Amino acid sequence: MLPCVEALRLLDHHCHGVLRRDLDRDGLEGLLTEAGPAGAGRPGESMFDSRVGFALRRWCPPVLGLPAHTTPEEYLARRSGLGPAEVTRRFLGRAGLGGLCVDTGFEPEPLLTPAELGAAAGAPAHPVLRLERLAEQILGERGSAAGFADQLRDRLSAAAGGGVAGGAAAGGGVVGGGVVGGGVAGGTPAGGAVAVKSIAAYRVGLELDGTRPSAAEVAAAAGRYLAAGPPVRVADEVLHRFLIWTGIDLGLPVQVHAGYGDRDVDLHRCDPLLLTGLLRATEPAGVPVILLHNYPFHRNAGYLAQVFRHVYLDVSLATHGVGRRAGALLAEALELAPFGKLLFASDAYGLPELYYLGALLFRQALSQVLREGLAAGEWTGPDAARLAGMTGAGNARRVYRLPA
Ligand SMILES: [Zn+2]
Repeated sequence: MLPCVEALRLLDHHCHGVLRRDLDRDGLEGLLTEAGPAGAGRPGESMFDSRVGFALRRWCPPVLGLPAHTTPEEYLARRSGLGPAEVTRRFLGRAGLGGLCVDTGFEPEPLLTPAELGAAAGAPAHPVLRLERLAEQILGERGSAAGFADQLRDRLSAAAGGGVAGGAAAGGGVVGGGVVGGGVAGGTPAGGAVAVKSIAAYRVGLELDGTRPSAAEVAAAAGRYLAAGPPVRVADEVLHRFLIWTGIDLGLPVQVHAGYGDRDVDLHRCDPLLLTGLLRATEPAGVPVILLHNYPFHRNAGYLAQVFRHVYLDVSLATHGVGRRAGALLAEALELAPFGKLLFASDAYGLPELYYLGALLFRQALSQVLREGLAAGEWTGPDAARLAGMTGAGNARRVYRLPA
């Protein structure tokens, strides 16, 4: 690995909480796939026999004091023996992170809060607020359809008021500044959100109109949900578009899920190219839009990042999902996208191993890409060090306006 890459304190700009409980084999395998527990496999079909499974068996056992390639049974026994808190501390501590931006909007069971993740990683953690979650909370409070847009704007603006959780900023689990993550109903941060996230891809797909919806259109859409009653699950082209525009209007960077994810996405509707009209319309505002994941459309995302000044991308989730192929993945994402447009993220969820694997495989991939350029005389050593610093952390600090 290139020394300049090895030394990087990576800024993980998109990640989630990890589980508080121990896992059996099915539970662990279920978190290595986007198919969910039911899709982890049948007898004779194991996620350990996949790229991500082999990456885990190669790199994770030594962190727990076992030899590489140890059997899944030995690995799970060791993991249980150490307990979830120690396993989390080891993997997050070894990921070499300089900061985290944590999506708190998906919590099917209690997860570590941004403050706890930050404390384990020894780095400041910043919450990211999920737009649809906030909209669903407000609609669930059964106010007026006409007042919905203003309420959402006010709450979003309040959520972006200052605060950093955990790690270097506040130390062992103490929350500094605003109240962050855990303890707030529904997982919505009450302050300190550095960005918002849209999951339109999961609900209606990414073919969103570019135009800003009118107040009447938003009120009509809100009214339909209020009339239908709880539980509210926003899946409405007008509302997803309104939510993204509201983030843009407040100057909050907007993360957009694109490409693959859990199996409830219709992947054919998640190509980021479908966002072209909206990206064209939002560009003059100059607020960053960050395309998350993107696989297998990462080349398309690279194109968008090249042609739109405010568009950025990552290859999170896929970086560990493709295991040893991460170098090829990153090289493809960086064919068109300038180095100033690519951000590191793990998209770790549930397993602390995924923080470590995401960071390690990204470092290996970045090192491979930079070494190839060095070998070809394409760039110099100082250039390579600068590019590593940009993609590993500098771009994210600039996009989210985080202190160095
Ligand atoms: Zn995610």
